[in-house]
Amino acid sequence: MTSSDLHAFADIGVRRREEAPCSRALSPSRLPGLDFALNPYRGCSHGCLYCYAPALLHTPVDGWTAALPKRGLLRLLEKEVGSVKGVVGIGTSTDPYQPLEEEARLTRGCLRILRDASLEYCVHTKSDLVLRDIDLLDKAEVGITITNLSETASLSLEPGAPLPQRRLDAVKGLCEAGVEVFVMVGPLLSLIEGQEVELAEAIAKTGVAMVMVDTLNKGTDPAPLRAVGVTAATPSCVIRFKESASSLGLVIRNAF
Ligand code: SF4
Repeated sequence: MTSSDLHAFADIGVRRREEAPCSRALSPSRLPGLDFALNPYRGCSHGCLYCYAPALLHTPVDGWTAALPKRGLLRLLEKEVGSVKGVVGIGTSTDPYQPLEEEARLTRGCLRILRDASLEYCVHTKSDLVLRDIDLLDKAEVGITITNLSETASLSLEPGAPLPQRRLDAVKGLCEAGVEVFVMVGPLLSLIEGQEVELAEAIAKTGVAMVMVDTLNKGTDPAPLRAVGVTAATPSCVIRFKESASSLGLVIRNAF
């Protein structure tokens, strides 16, 4: 990354004025396969009703959806990359491609720094904005989350995130570009009961080879989901989805 790139990002921060304090870019990760976590934003405007990130981070739920870029993140990351080795997971507790990224381009800046430092990285998102950065993803692994196929359900469950078809199109676009990609199906919720085959078929059509399956985290507050009539998928629904996906040739992995 050139210093003019860094100044461009810094200027965005100055214009925006509101930023979240940040003392380090990379933090150790206990997630499988990841050595470090990198989250360019504090908070997430996708606003998923099942989000347990605030609980995980011991952060108040109030204000979580008013996401802020992290102050000085790119300068910190540039300093840190020289002394670490391992895989960096981008978007472990917030979406790195939430709408704010379109202008702030912090995630893009992070990708360029990690790539220049020859570090391995993987990216996890619900947004097709990831396609913008395809030029920086040839050596990365990308996971796109899909929870259901219904626009109505998605608008209620994940109000700030792109609709399911846009995510499926993003998976297809990444596959066609030769990026290593998987679909994260999760959390599996009651609203896919009876639509397990349809969901598996829609995913298989994208050309993706691998599906990670995640169930509702035990730490999730069930009240917001209950308010829209949704609960965790039953074990038999989870099995039906896995069998359907497997019968279509998809490799199934459990997320955790
Ligand atoms: S995209 Fe992830 S981090 Fe963002 S609100 Fe949804 S579950 Fe939480």
